[in-house]
Amino acid sequence: MHCPFCRNPDSRVIDSRSTEDGAAIRRRRSCPECGKRFTTQENVLLMVAKRSGVTEPFSREKIIAGVRRACQGRPVDEDALAKLGQRVEEAIRGTGIAEIPSNEVGLAILGPLGELDEVAYLRFASVYRSFESLDDFAREIETLRGGQPAGPAPSG
Ligand SMILES: [Zn+2]
Repeated sequence: MHCPFCRNPDSRVIDSRSTEDGAAIRRRRSCPECGKRFTTQENVLLMVAKRSGVTEPFSREKIIAGVRRACQGRPVDEDALAKLGQRVEEAIRGTGIAEIPSNEVGLAILGPLGELDEVAYLRFASVYRSFESLDDFAREIETLRGGQPAGPAPSG
């Protein structure tokens, strides 16, 4: 790793320790060229596997950006968005899976978003679940109201 001060390509580790929760290792480094010190952190990356098979690091900012789009014009503030992002990330990390399919990320967003704002939820769900007809919306609204999805009445 380059020295962030002088770009020297080499550095010396002077101290290594786990973070309190054991989820990462921090290394204190010293640059032999300029003598300055800096700290690096090594941790497991939570990866998201897209349908195309490509994986990318999980990004809470990306989640929040997507939800923010769905919340346009709705009474949802940045604080609520940040909290939702945190809930989604905690839920995903809580699964203990290091590589999570992107559709499960979408599912993890829908729950808290439904509690936050129903209109934003419907907008997000319409994109995420590729709604094609009014029936799709009607079914989702039924679910939001706590009822069963609309379907044929049971006979007998
Ligand atoms: Zn340096």
